[in-house]
Amino acid sequence: MSNSGYEARYYKKLSNNSTQCVLCPHFCIIADGDSGFCRSRQNTNGTLYAINYGECVSLAMDPIEKKPLYHFYPGSYVLSTASNSCNLACPFCQNSEISQYKTQTKFVPPEQMVETALSEKSIGIAYTYTEPLTWFEYLMETAKLAYAKGLKNILVTNGMINPEPLKELMPYIDAANIDLKSMDESFYKTLLKGNLQTVLETIKSCKKLFHIEITNLLIPGHNDSAELISKLIDFVVEVGVDTPLHFSRYFPHYNFDFPPTPAATLEFAYKLAKEKLYYVYAGNIELPETSNTYCPQCNNLLIRRHHLNTEIPGIIKNKLKGKAKASTCPTGNKCSKCGRQTDIIIC
Ligand code: SF4
Repeated sequence: MSNSGYEARYYKKLSNNSTQCVLCPHFCIIADGDSGFCRSRQNTNGTLYAINYGECVSLAMDPIEKKPLYHFYPGSYVLSTASNSCNLACPFCQNSEISQYKTQTKFVPPEQMVETALSEKSIGIAYTYTEPLTWFEYLMETAKLAYAKGLKNILVTNGMINPEPLKELMPYIDAANIDLKSMDESFYKTLLKGNLQTVLETIKSCKKLFHIEITNLLIPGHNDSAELISKLIDFVVEVGVDTPLHFSRYFPHYNFDFPPTPAATLEFAYKLAKEKLYYVYAGNIELPETSNTYCPQCNNLLIRRHHLNTEIPGIIKNKLKGKAKASTCPTGNKCSKCGRQTDIIIC
């Protein structure tokens, strides 16, 4: 099937051939011939079409650590793909070339995507780089097929989706890295054209059902005050002290051209978060030991990471037997020093 005839999910028909998309909190009202804010759905004669269905801007095998996911199959590779749209307008977007502008895409049907993941011996499929939730129809179909074949489905997302479609999607997802860009509602609303409350609710819902990690890009003068960093840490504590939190360094890109985040800001955030959370990381920067995973009980080095190379010196794997061994990768792995059960999923 090509994308041109693929009717969108989650929309309402209004008068005068107009439609309203209810997939995300933008609730775009889309007149005949127009597209929504994210450019992924278009109204033609009163029917809303998912015009990005199956249209991929990227397809590559990535280290799982690049997502970043540090506690889900560390050291593995995952087939990573993306659509050509996003429902935020972050002026600092690090992938603006494919998220904010229409660019060349290639149609890859769900069956072919799953076959590619299997033939590449990938652990699954990561829907990443841009915003996968605006790819909802393709994401649902591909994730269901991948799930049936025993592959893992991974989201790297901004969390901007309404509760009903999220509920439909979640049973097919195994892990997610969710961006929490700030705890400032006006930052989301004015700068990103987003909705903080929706993102917070998405994080809480996902945490109940599958493995999540959270990323916060620290941008000088915008979301890096001690007060905002502290508020964000407290929210992650509320979600669960075992939730990995990644602070990431901003670099000038797209519409923001001021200098990168100072190392001192990342060090400050890292140390503050370590006082309350089990697992904290600093990314996009060389700060000794902030990429490693330590046991929260005895501080033993569990996982060592350097430039996306991963070694696991401090974890004793939980040995499953019989059918369980064949069908799943174990949780319940233990720290080699103190025996504490880790929260890390390892094959
Ligand atoms: S998914 Fe796109 S079209 Fe639908 S409400 Fe959100 S921004 Fe608008």
